[in-house]
Amino acid sequence: MGMTPMMQQYHEAKDACGDAILLFRMGDFFELFNDDAVTAARVLGMTLTSRDKGKNATPMAGFPHHQLDGYLAKLIHLGYRVAICDQVEDPKEAKGIVRREVTRIVSPGTLTDDSLLEPKESNYLAAIVADDRKKNATGEVGIAWVEMSTGSFFAGTFAGDRLADQLARIGPAECLLAEDVGSLPPHLAERIHLTRRPAWAFSNKTTRDCLLAHFGTANLDGLGFGEEDHLAIRAAGGVLDYLNETQKVSLSHIDKLTPYRTGTTLEIDEATRRSLELTRTIRDGRRDGTLVAVMDRCVTPMGSRVLAQWLANPLTDNQAIEARLDAVEELKGDAALTKDLADGLAGVYDLQRLLTRVSTGRASPRDLSFISRTLSRLPRVKAKITSRRSQLLSDLEARLDLCPELHGKLVLALDKNCPLHAKEGGFIQEGYYAKLDEYRELAVGGKQWIANYQAEESRKSGIANMKVGFNKVFGYYIEITNAQKDKVPDYFHRKQTLKNAERYITPELKEYEEKVLSADDKAKQLEYELFVELRDLVMADCKRLQQTAVAIAELDAFVSLADLARDRNYCRPKMIDEPDLRIIDGRHPVLDMTEAAGTFVPNDTQLSGDDGFVAIITGPNMAGKSTYIRQVGLLTIMAQMGSFVPARQATIGVVDRVFARVGASDELSRGQSTFMVEMTETARILNTATRHSLVILDEIGRGTSTYDGVSLAWSIVEHLHDKIGARTLFATHYHELSELAGSLDGVCNLNVSVKEWDEKIVFLHKIVPGAADKSYGIYVARLAGVPPEVNERAKQILAQLEQEHLDPDGRSKIAHSIPRHPKKDLQLTFFSPMEHPVVEEIRGVDLNALTPLEALQRLAQWQKQLGSG
Ligand code: ADP
Ligand code: MG
Repeated sequence: MGMTPMMQQYHEAKDACGDAILLFRMGDFFELFNDDAVTAARVLGMTLTSRDKGKNATPMAGFPHHQLDGYLAKLIHLGYRVAICDQVEDPKEAKGIVRREVTRIVSPGTLTDDSLLEPKESNYLAAIVADDRKKNATGEVGIAWVEMSTGSFFAGTFAGDRLADQLARIGPAECLLAEDVGSLPPHLAERIHLTRRPAWAFSNKTTRDCLLAHFGTANLDGLGFGEEDHLAIRAAGGVLDYLNETQKVSLSHIDKLTPYRTGTTLEIDEATRRSLELTRTIRDGRRDGTLVAVMDRCVTPMGSRVLAQWLANPLTDNQAIEARLDAVEELKGDAALTKDLADGLAGVYDLQRLLTRVSTGRASPRDLSFISRTLSRLPRVKAKITSRRSQLLSDLEARLDLCPELHGKLVLALDKNCPLHAKEGGFIQEGYYAKLDEYRELAVGGKQWIANYQAEESRKSGIANMKVGFNKVFGYYIEITNAQKDKVPDYFHRKQTLKNAERYITPELKEYEEKVLSADDKAKQLEYELFVELRDLVMADCKRLQQTAVAIAELDAFVSLADLARDRNYCRPKMIDEPDLRIIDGRHPVLDMTEAAGTFVPNDTQLSGDDGFVAIITGPNMAGKSTYIRQVGLLTIMAQMGSFVPARQATIGVVDRVFARVGASDELSRGQSTFMVEMTETARILNTATRHSLVILDEIGRGTSTYDGVSLAWSIVEHLHDKIGARTLFATHYHELSELAGSLDGVCNLNVSVKEWDEKIVFLHKIVPGAADKSYGIYVARLAGVPPEVNERAKQILAQLEQEHLDPDGRSKIAHSIPRHPKKDLQLTFFSPMEHPVVEEIRGVDLNALTPLEALQRLAQWQKQLGSG
């Protein structure tokens, strides 16, 4: 059964693009066939038709080519990869069938079009390479991440159990994994598109060759990675290999691979990011209602992205934090200046993404005009930040490069309104290029030339009412009435006879006609050449422009922080190295803004070695415990990213890690036993927190029975207090825990005050010292509308239980019966639980190579090593 040449082309293209949906250009349409057509009909609601009939019938669907952006956006958002097969020669010039090629494969992590990108969010493509030297497994992973739309490219090596944390920090849209390794961490899998790659794509050789070719170097030493970073290097090479294969454009804008080192930033693990709702809400995963949403007052998308980066990577170096705070303070102090800067920056376009489209050859004339307009804003912005005190502001000023020559050229060349397609023409200004003006004048008919010609011929021949005209069939002609027929010169050739006139053509007019008719084509062609020339000029300044773009983005972020600080009356936090924390009149940054003005109740926090660094917060449901403890975490993160904080006064000892955990029943179930999740996450804290960490525990231990829960919560607090010494806030409804303050010096009690009023309670949201004196569950139940008889019965039962479980002073007998914590320190073990050599050995065992007997022997040996045999 023969295939038409076109369908042959189709199948070749289809083979070249793997699992992507293929959009095949045919004339003015993009068509989809077979399964792709069926999928498109289903997910996009396109009409399914058929190519050919009977046995050869092929399902088909399509849309006009100018609707490409819209359909592409929908498919990408639905998580598909889409290949575009375009006509790569002009159908008019094609001999036989038009040549078609897959011009690119678009996937969620490789977007460059503004119409497909979220302006305020980075769009990363990541790759993960796990250690596959099984015998000697170190459990490390290499991660590389690149933003195709801006060219930023990073790679780093991380402990395997930190993979989820790193992915949560980076937030890639798409992640590459070799086909023979495991999958993405469960709750990240929903948000990250997984693309499988053949294992060889991450091999030492492929990735090395790929990096060397890309950076044009003879070895990888110059990149600043060490021997220990081989996994990171492989991930980076794998990313580039994928971009080469799918993008089919120059990747020259990806000109640097930056090693990412942990230790210079505040570590925030995945669970903490989620529970503090830094960039997404827990409930619906949206940006609204998150910390980043309330903090972001940037006027450019680039600024918003930088601010989000700062929030995702707060600093731990005091000097670096102070430098940012200096910049914010200086801007905050001058309202007129911040307003001027914001106004100036407001006209700035997304220079980073524009430049990427330039260097990948995907820029439109409109993109160039946006670059030009952006450059027009800069002199004013730069002037505003000259001679500033803050080091960072003066650095920014120096980094803003106005590129005056390029700007001058673009202003002269480009029209106000530029089209999206360079081939359409009509975007170069008059007066920029003489030849173009000439073509254009010709194309619109060259009225002057015709007038001159007519006058000249009329004078030579003595024919008075000679007329030059044009029609589509005969082209240009000279019309002469029959009355003057005998004066017609012999070089006039008759073309057409009318009722009382004849129409003639002359060689000169014929030549003119050819010129006019091709002038339009020539003008467009010339404009395209001029466009390419301008694009190359921008390319030549690309580095300077990129650096300027980053400076604009940072400036915008500083202006945003200053504006926020002034508007919401924030204070500059005093940053210290000692692990202390003192906040006066602190407010929750999100509720402070979303609740009605003046209704949020500010609260103080004091955690330090002397006054107690572990605070147990008790109080009824809905009193404000969770809000209060989260607020402390959020303020700390804000301070370390270089922001002022919503408080009257704040002294914050720099934190190395912040942990926030919510007890199981407070969180949506995620498939696993929620209590198991709660304990796994708690284990992480107990194993990794240090004296410089901040720990926020919300109702930990609630996911199990009361005795279980109290006991766990109790011993967790003891451990944090005795062994770790981390600043800790523990909100709990287990009143028993407040007894801990009696036995541990560093533990203090707080509760949220509540007013009882006519058998009802009023929440004051005020944190006060001391433990809550009783549980208000029954009051809350009434508030919630539980029927009165149920409440009455509950009160009876409570009275009975209290009699049984409280001692005469009203203190819990449970707490009393808990043995006091042994005063002497537990024997310090050299290895923390995760690092015990036995654990290492167990990891390294090749189960397939082990006989049952050997297995038993090893078990016995390990038991002995652990001292329990
Ligand atoms: P808890 O954890 O004690 O059950 P939450 O912290 O969840 O209570 O707070 C319940 C509600 O009370 C919040 O949604 C908020 O509307 C309100 N709230 C909490 N703290 C304050 C405050 N300081 N000022 C005003 N309203 C608050
Ligand atoms: Mg709560």
